This record gives sequence, structure tokens and C-alpha cells, in this order.
Amino acid sequence: MSSCPICNTPMKKERREIEKGLYAQVEVCTKCQDEWLDMKAYEELYQYYNRKTFKIGGSLAIRIPKDLAEVVGIKEGTRVKFAVKDKKLVIEAIS
Ligand SMILES: [Zn+2]
Repeated sequence: MSSCPICNTPMKKERREIEKGLYAQVEVCTKCQDEWLDMKAYEELYQYYNRKTFKIGGSLAIRIPKDLAEVVGIKEGTRVKFAVKDKKLVIEAIS
């Protein structure tokens, strides 16, 4: 277990939502309540949310991170529609 960089209190590990729908293992200082994400956790998170496109037949495919899919209600077989907003691809589940 590591200690808080500010007050040196031992920190406990917790899984927290750091952004809407994005969970990460963080270390929380019980004294100042600050949460810390170590470099390894940050790196893993970065890798997890950065995906590379690949080909399936003639189509371009992307793996959607599981927790992002859950947040927006996409599972296997869900019909989705695409839109382009500000040069970004928006994928929306159609219910
Ligand atoms: Zn602290």
C-alpha cells in the first residue's frame, strides 16, 4: 500500500467513477479524501480507451470497450446508427 503524496497517510484502493461511465482503480487518501491514479493504472486506462481499427472482410471494425457499451446501452445485436458531429463519429443505440 502506498501513502498520500501530500499528507503521507496510507491510502486505500477503491474503484471509482472518474468520468461519466469511466471506472478506474484509484488510491484514496482517508485524510484529505484526494484520489490518486498511479502511472500504471493511468497507462492501463489509456490503453483500454484507445482502440485501433481493424478489418473484417471489407469493413472497418472497432472493439467497443465493455463499460462504455454498457453506459450507452449497446450489447451484442443492438442496432446502432452513425452520425458525424464536429468531425467525430457518434454511434447511437436505436431502441
Ligand atoms: Zn492525504
